[in-house]
Amino acid sequence: MKVTSSEIVISAVKPEQYPETDLPEFALAGRSNVGKSSFINKMLNRKGLARISSKPGKTQTLNFYVINEVLHFVDVPGYGYAKVSKSERAAWGKMIETYLTTREQLRAVVQIVDLRHPPSEDDVMMYDFLKHYEIPCIIVATKADKIPKGKWQKHLKITREKLNFDQNDHMILFSSETGLGKDQAWSILESYM
Ligand code: GDP
Repeated sequence: MKVTSSEIVISAVKPEQYPETDLPEFALAGRSNVGKSSFINKMLNRKGLARISSKPGKTQTLNFYVINEVLHFVDVPGYGYAKVSKSERAAWGKMIETYLTTREQLRAVVQIVDLRHPPSEDDVMMYDFLKHYEIPCIIVATKADKIPKGKWQKHLKITREKLNFDQNDHMILFSSETGLGKDQAWSILESYM
């Protein structure tokens, strides 16, 4: 998809604030600092639309972006940030759960993981949650530019094994630095629209 327009619609914390349209929607999830904002910006050809986090875990809202007037990206606040209090963590969980389990036009979740490291316990928990609710998932293994090409397949295999990856889902190699995987990511998203 050639992105010609993208803008934020709303930062929402509760369902009454979700945009009232039936545009197909993709949520983006990942642990803090994994490279989620960079992924969004790369996909949208924007530099600073999704804020590249200086303070991980800070954004506690669901940020809805409208793209080419035909779909939404929903940026979900990053998980696994250690300095978040128990009550903040609980509020985060409730907000995400409500969104993911009730939003009818949600087509798939793009879960960003770091190709360099095996998925964290939080990554595994998020993926398990998505599979429990039978939500299609696209695993984006980002920061591929940080490891040699010859090691990519080995790292992907570890990622698949640790997540107990469902073969009906997609997994793609990505780099926000080089743009690797961008076209593939768009084709997969379009296949869900
Ligand atoms: P977020 O907290 O998940 O939104 O993560 P950010 O997008 O803010 O990225 C965290 C850090 O990783 C920043 O310093 C980015 O420049 C860097 N980063 C993100 N994606 C990539 C990538 O694909 N390659 C490299 N080399 N660095 C990346």
